[in-house]
Amino acid sequence: MHPLRSLILAAAGNDAIRRLVATAPVSRDVVRRFVAGETTADAVAVTREVVASGRSVTLDHLGEDVADVAHADENVRAYLELLDALHAEQLAARAEVSVKLSAVGQKLSERVALDNASRVCAAAEQCGTTVTLDMEDHATTDSTLRVLAELRRTWPSTGAVLQSYLHRTLTDCGRLASTRVRLVKGAYAEPAAVAFGGHEVDLNYVRCANALLAGDGYPMFATHDPRLVRIVGERARWYDRKPGTYEYQMLFGVRPDEQRRLAQEGETVRVYVPYGSQWYGYLMRRLAERPANTTFFARALVSHS
Ligand SMILES: Cc1cc2nc3c(=O)[nH]c(=O)nc-3n(C[C@H](O)[C@H](O)[C@H](O)COP(=O)(O)OP(=O)(O)OC[C@H]3O[C@@H](n4cnc5c(N)ncnc54)[C@H](O)[C@@H]3O)c2cc1C
Repeated sequence: MHPLRSLILAAAGNDAIRRLVATAPVSRDVVRRFVAGETTADAVAVTREVVASGRSVTLDHLGEDVADVAHADENVRAYLELLDALHAEQLAARAEVSVKLSAVGQKLSERVALDNASRVCAAAEQCGTTVTLDMEDHATTDSTLRVLAELRRTWPSTGAVLQSYLHRTLTDCGRLASTRVRLVKGAYAEPAAVAFGGHEVDLNYVRCANALLAGDGYPMFATHDPRLVRIVGERARWYDRKPGTYEYQMLFGVRPDEQRRLAQEGETVRVYVPYGSQWYGYLMRRLAERPANTTFFARALVSHS
């Protein structure tokens, strides 16, 4: 692991550094590069900007691994408020929401997570949009896919996420290829018993992309990897997929020029926009992925403090 990466990940768990980052004046700029802000109004304002540039949005209310019913309920209410606001601002046709089941009670019980996710799906339907269930670590994959199957009985367009680093995923892609599926590499530290490493993850991404493009569902290719973006484009043409029958997804603040380039070429591009007061862990993960961003941030912090 890159030394700066381990340093930043260690900082993610350090309270003193969290306070310094949260209160330093420069943080506002760096945080705003990757996070829409803390409030529903911030999330809606960024959605408006992104949509005006020809891209679509999926919004993530930050806050995972809740340990009690009250916090799970708070997270559900945040999504309901957001969906109302998107509807009121006539943005719901271009903005859906991404939900982590651990944010709505999966650690408490699958039943709590299903009931809470159902409340978000019902509100999304009323507002004219959809929900995608983010995928978390491999210990939750079966449970998340069970909840997804239940939700799809009422809301068939609920999106799934599959991770190409898992050995099981090509089979899952085959099973879900006629539905709405986001394909990612995968973001959690997984054991070799269940996950590929290194270049194998990319090779499996391409195998999975082929399986999804061969089906009649709606694949959503979430990656910033220039090589994979190019290969997905080539494979989409090979399968005679027209733009609009699949989409690209990237994170807010990551490769924005590439996002605009794809959108200008007529591709559907959806930007994953996180917001909420629990932004610190998310920001640290983004910085750890790109040491160049970290150096910039560290310099700015020192010169401002
Ligand atoms: C929309 C979206 C939703 C996601 N949802 C989930 C989820 O539900 N579950 C989950 O486990 N993971 C999710 N992820 C995270 C994903 O699994 C990866 O961890 C993350 O996307 C990094 O992988 P990558 O495909 O971008 O390629 P990487 O292997 O990280 O990078 C490959 C190449 O991409 C380019 N690149 C990457 N980052 C940058 C950058 N910051 N600036 C410039 N170039 C860059 C570089 O050329 C780099 O060499 C999601 C990612 C996105 C984009």
